[in-house]
Amino acid sequence: MKKIVSFDLDGTIVSGNYGEMVWNHGIPEEYAKRHSMPFDEAKQYIRQEYESVGDREIIWYEIEHWLKRFDLPVIADELLLRYESYIEKVPYAEAVLKELAGRYTLVVASNAARIFVDKELHCAGLTEYFTHIISATTDYRMVKKEEHFYGKLCGLLGVLPGEVVHVGDHPVFDHDVPAGMGIEAYYLQHEHSAISHQLSVKDGRNVIKDLRELLDRL
Ligand SMILES: [Mg+2]
Repeated sequence: MKKIVSFDLDGTIVSGNYGEMVWNHGIPEEYAKRHSMPFDEAKQYIRQEYESVGDREIIWYEIEHWLKRFDLPVIADELLLRYESYIEKVPYAEAVLKELAGRYTLVVASNAARIFVDKELHCAGLTEYFTHIISATTDYRMVKKEEHFYGKLCGLLGVLPGEVVHVGDHPVFDHDVPAGMGIEAYYLQHEHSAISHQLSVKDGRNVIKDLRELLDRL
Protein backbone atom coordinates (compact mmCIF):
# COMPACT_ATOMS: atom_id res chain seq x y z
CA MET A 1 0.00 0.00 0.00
CA LYS A 2 1.56 3.28 -1.11
CA LYS A 3 1.21 6.23 1.22
CA ILE A 4 3.74 8.81 0.09
CA VAL A 5 4.59 10.29 -3.30
CA SER A 6 7.92 12.10 -3.28
CA PHE A 7 8.93 14.52 -6.04
CA ASP A 8 12.26 15.90 -7.09
CA LEU A 9 11.95 19.66 -7.68
CA ASP A 10 14.14 21.08 -10.50
CA GLY A 11 13.33 19.58 -13.86
CA THR A 12 10.50 17.54 -12.34
CA ILE A 13 7.80 19.91 -11.11
CA VAL A 14 9.53 23.25 -11.76
CA SER A 15 11.71 23.91 -14.82
CA GLY A 16 15.48 24.05 -14.36
CA ASN A 17 15.83 27.54 -15.88
CA TYR A 18 15.73 29.45 -12.64
CA GLY A 19 18.85 27.97 -11.09
CA GLU A 20 20.62 28.34 -14.41
CA MET A 21 19.80 32.07 -14.49
CA VAL A 22 20.86 32.75 -10.91
CA TRP A 23 24.12 30.76 -11.06
CA ASN A 24 25.24 31.30 -14.64
CA HIS A 25 23.85 34.71 -15.41
CA GLY A 26 23.23 36.60 -12.17
CA ILE A 27 26.49 35.81 -10.43
CA PRO A 28 28.73 36.41 -13.49
CA GLU A 29 26.88 39.65 -14.20
CA GLU A 30 27.53 40.90 -10.66
CA TYR A 31 31.14 39.80 -10.94
CA ALA A 32 31.61 41.57 -14.27
CA LYS A 33 30.28 44.81 -12.76
CA ARG A 34 32.28 44.50 -9.56
CA HIS A 35 35.55 43.84 -11.36
CA SER A 36 34.88 45.87 -14.54
CA MET A 37 35.28 43.05 -17.01
CA PRO A 38 33.24 41.76 -19.94
CA PHE A 39 30.35 39.43 -19.01
CA ASP A 40 31.66 36.49 -21.06
CA GLU A 41 35.03 36.63 -19.38
CA ALA A 42 33.40 36.80 -15.96
CA LYS A 43 31.14 33.88 -16.86
CA GLN A 44 34.06 31.73 -17.93
CA TYR A 45 35.98 32.54 -14.75
CA ILE A 46 32.97 31.83 -12.52
CA ARG A 47 32.33 28.49 -14.19
CA GLN A 48 35.96 27.50 -13.64
CA GLU A 49 35.62 28.44 -9.99
CA TYR A 50 32.43 26.38 -9.62
CA GLU A 51 34.18 23.44 -11.24
CA SER A 52 37.23 23.78 -9.02
CA VAL A 53 34.91 23.01 -6.09
CA GLY A 54 32.59 20.52 -7.82
CA ASP A 55 29.13 19.27 -6.96
CA ARG A 56 30.35 16.73 -4.41
CA GLU A 57 31.17 19.55 -1.99
CA ILE A 58 28.40 21.04 0.10
CA ILE A 59 29.63 24.62 -0.51
CA TRP A 60 28.93 24.19 -4.22
CA TYR A 61 25.22 24.51 -3.33
CA GLU A 62 25.59 27.48 -0.96
CA ILE A 63 25.00 30.77 -2.68
CA GLU A 64 26.21 32.78 0.34
CA HIS A 65 29.56 31.05 0.03
CA TRP A 66 29.95 32.19 -3.59
CA LEU A 67 28.77 35.74 -3.01
CA LYS A 68 31.37 36.08 -0.28
CA ARG A 69 34.10 34.29 -2.23
CA PHE A 70 33.63 36.61 -5.21
CA ASP A 71 33.18 39.65 -2.94
CA LEU A 72 29.89 40.62 -4.59
CA PRO A 73 27.86 43.52 -3.22
CA VAL A 74 24.51 41.72 -3.46
CA ILE A 75 22.63 39.56 -0.99
CA ALA A 76 21.23 36.16 -1.92
CA ASP A 77 17.58 37.19 -1.46
CA GLU A 78 18.02 40.08 -3.87
CA LEU A 79 19.63 37.88 -6.52
CA LEU A 80 16.94 35.22 -6.17
CA LEU A 81 14.23 37.86 -6.44
CA ARG A 82 15.75 39.30 -9.63
CA TYR A 83 15.15 36.09 -11.63
CA GLU A 84 11.78 35.14 -10.14
CA SER A 85 10.08 35.47 -13.52
CA TYR A 86 12.06 32.43 -14.74
CA ILE A 87 10.34 30.13 -12.25
CA GLU A 88 7.88 28.00 -14.20
CA LYS A 89 5.89 24.89 -13.43
CA VAL A 90 6.54 21.98 -15.76
CA PRO A 91 3.58 20.96 -17.94
CA TYR A 92 0.75 19.26 -16.00
CA ALA A 93 2.55 19.59 -12.64
CA GLU A 94 -0.26 21.36 -10.88
CA ALA A 95 -3.08 19.22 -12.27
CA VAL A 96 -1.23 16.04 -11.31
CA LEU A 97 -0.39 17.28 -7.81
CA LYS A 98 -4.00 18.33 -7.27
CA GLU A 99 -5.21 14.90 -8.26
CA LEU A 100 -2.64 12.98 -6.19
CA ALA A 101 -3.01 15.19 -3.11
CA GLY A 102 -6.41 13.65 -2.44
CA ARG A 103 -4.95 10.13 -2.37
CA TYR A 104 -1.41 10.41 -0.99
CA THR A 105 0.84 12.47 1.24
CA LEU A 106 3.02 14.49 -1.11
CA VAL A 107 6.59 15.54 -0.37
CA VAL A 108 9.43 17.35 -2.17
CA ALA A 109 12.91 15.82 -2.00
CA SER A 110 15.38 18.21 -3.66
CA ASN A 111 19.13 18.63 -3.88
CA ALA A 112 18.90 22.41 -4.13
CA ALA A 113 19.55 24.62 -1.11
CA ARG A 114 16.46 25.50 0.92
CA ILE A 115 16.51 29.17 -0.14
CA PHE A 116 16.00 28.02 -3.78
CA VAL A 117 13.49 25.29 -2.95
CA ASP A 118 11.23 27.60 -0.94
CA LYS A 119 11.43 30.36 -3.51
CA GLU A 120 10.66 28.09 -6.47
CA LEU A 121 7.72 26.35 -4.82
CA HIS A 122 6.27 29.63 -3.58
CA CYS A 123 6.55 31.44 -6.93
CA ALA A 124 5.20 28.42 -8.81
CA GLY A 125 2.25 28.39 -6.38
CA LEU A 126 2.84 24.74 -5.44
CA THR A 127 3.83 24.90 -1.75
CA GLU A 128 0.34 24.03 -0.50
CA TYR A 129 0.40 20.54 -2.03
CA PHE A 130 3.27 19.28 0.12
CA THR A 131 3.32 18.20 3.75
CA HIS A 132 7.14 17.93 3.86
CA ILE A 133 9.70 19.84 1.82
CA ILE A 134 13.22 18.49 2.15
CA SER A 135 16.46 20.04 0.92
CA ALA A 136 19.09 17.29 0.96
CA THR A 137 21.91 19.83 1.10
CA THR A 138 20.50 22.25 3.69
CA ASP A 139 18.55 19.86 5.90
CA TYR A 140 20.72 16.74 5.75
CA ARG A 141 24.07 18.15 4.57
CA MET A 142 24.06 15.54 1.78
CA VAL A 143 25.08 16.44 -1.77
CA LYS A 144 23.43 13.58 -3.60
CA LYS A 145 20.24 11.67 -3.06
CA GLU A 146 21.93 8.39 -2.21
CA GLU A 147 20.49 5.51 -0.18
CA HIS A 148 21.16 7.23 3.08
CA PHE A 149 19.04 10.17 1.95
CA TYR A 150 16.01 8.04 1.13
CA GLY A 151 16.50 6.14 4.39
CA LYS A 152 16.33 9.40 6.34
CA LEU A 153 13.29 10.48 4.36
CA CYS A 154 11.45 7.25 5.19
CA GLY A 155 12.44 7.65 8.85
CA LEU A 156 11.13 11.20 8.94
CA LEU A 157 7.83 10.14 7.40
CA GLY A 158 7.58 6.97 9.51
CA VAL A 159 7.11 4.67 6.51
CA LEU A 160 8.88 1.75 4.86
CA PRO A 161 10.47 2.13 1.40
CA GLY A 162 7.69 -0.07 -0.02
CA GLU A 163 5.16 2.57 0.97
CA VAL A 164 6.87 5.30 -1.03
CA VAL A 165 6.80 6.37 -4.68
CA HIS A 166 9.49 8.76 -5.93
CA VAL A 167 9.64 10.60 -9.24
CA GLY A 168 12.39 12.76 -10.69
CA ASP A 169 14.46 13.62 -13.74
CA HIS A 170 17.80 12.11 -12.72
CA PRO A 171 18.09 8.50 -13.90
CA VAL A 172 20.42 7.47 -11.08
CA PHE A 173 19.58 9.60 -8.06
CA ASP A 174 15.84 9.75 -8.70
CA HIS A 175 15.41 6.27 -10.13
CA ASP A 176 18.13 3.67 -9.64
CA VAL A 177 19.01 4.59 -6.05
CA PRO A 178 15.46 4.63 -4.65
CA ALA A 179 14.38 1.66 -6.83
CA GLY A 180 17.31 -0.36 -5.47
CA MET A 181 15.96 -0.03 -1.94
CA GLY A 182 12.38 -0.95 -2.73
CA ILE A 183 10.88 2.46 -3.47
CA GLU A 184 8.62 2.52 -6.53
CA ALA A 185 10.60 4.98 -8.64
CA TYR A 186 9.80 6.77 -11.90
CA TYR A 187 12.36 8.47 -14.09
CA LEU A 188 10.83 11.49 -15.78
CA GLN A 189 12.63 11.68 -19.09
CA HIS A 190 11.73 15.06 -20.57
CA GLU A 191 12.17 15.77 -24.19
CA HIS A 192 14.27 18.80 -23.19
CA SER A 193 16.07 17.28 -20.26
CA ALA A 194 19.82 17.71 -20.80
CA ILE A 195 20.62 14.73 -18.68
CA SER A 196 18.35 12.36 -20.58
CA HIS A 197 20.60 12.66 -23.58
CA GLN A 198 23.74 11.94 -21.63
CA LEU A 199 22.69 8.69 -20.06
CA SER A 200 21.00 6.03 -22.07
CA VAL A 201 17.95 4.45 -20.56
CA LYS A 202 18.76 1.15 -18.94
CA ASP A 203 16.41 -1.76 -19.34
CA GLY A 204 14.09 -2.03 -16.44
CA ARG A 205 13.82 1.65 -15.62
CA ASN A 206 10.32 2.92 -15.07
CA VAL A 207 10.33 5.81 -17.53
CA ILE A 208 7.59 8.40 -17.89
CA LYS A 209 7.59 11.16 -20.48
CA ASP A 210 5.34 13.57 -18.63
CA LEU A 211 3.79 13.75 -15.20
CA ARG A 212 0.31 12.75 -16.38
CA GLU A 213 1.55 9.20 -16.84
CA LEU A 214 1.85 8.96 -13.07
CA LEU A 215 -1.91 9.09 -12.78
CA ASP A 216 -2.25 5.90 -14.82
CA ARG A 217 0.62 4.13 -13.11
CA LEU A 218 -0.41 4.77 -9.49
MG1 LIG B 1 15.99 17.31 -10.97
